[in-house]
Amino acid sequence: MSVFFIALGGNLGDVVASFRSARRRIAQLPRAEILQSPLQSSLLYRTPPLGPPDQPDYYNAVISIACEFEPLKLLDALQSIEAAHGRVRAEHWGARTLDLDIIAMDAAMVDTDRLSLPHPQMQFRQFVLRPLCDIAPNWQHPRLQKTAAELLNALQQAGEPTLPKGIAW
Ligand code: ATP
Ligand code: CA
Ligand code: CA
Ligand code: CA
Repeated sequence: MSVFFIALGGNLGDVVASFRSARRRIAQLPRAEILQSPLQSSLLYRTPPLGPPDQPDYYNAVISIACEFEPLKLLDALQSIEAAHGRVRAEHWGARTLDLDIIAMDAAMVDTDRLSLPHPQMQFRQFVLRPLCDIAPNWQHPRLQKTAAELLNALQQAGEPTLPKGIAW
């Protein structure tokens, strides 16, 4: 069994409704393979956009599940949930209805064409680290040898403004 952290992001349409529906679908991935229920969920954060300007603010959250999936099988499942929510891959980092990234699988290190774990940008992103710290502040990054809380603290020490307080969803 592995614990996965999954980041949700989006800035088009009714994002909170998409997040709730994605969370429900992730919780309903084939029963036999989900060993921990309910899944844990961070607060929901509203963050300014990355990449092309002139897009609406993003919403971000992180959830964790324990399951028996191989990581590529989970990525397949997440991509089909994205597609079901109208995700169209156009502009890189452009506006999107729903983005589901695997942030980490325990302390696994994966580096393939389709999947890198931990997510290679996570340590630079408060919109990932802040919600991750709601549910797993002591999770340790296997390459950087720092906890989620330490990685978040490093960004804040570097002068990045902290995100506004999150809300339950
Ligand atoms: P970023 O990766 O910077 O957050 P993005 O989420 O906008 O950018 P996408 O267009 O959603 O990028 O994904 C591009 C590809 O990234 C996916 O098709 C997938 O194969 C690959 N990928 C690699 N590692 C991961 C991961 N940990 N989680 C999700 N996708 C990943
Ligand atoms: Ca396993
Ligand atoms: Ca992403
Ligand atoms: Ca993605």
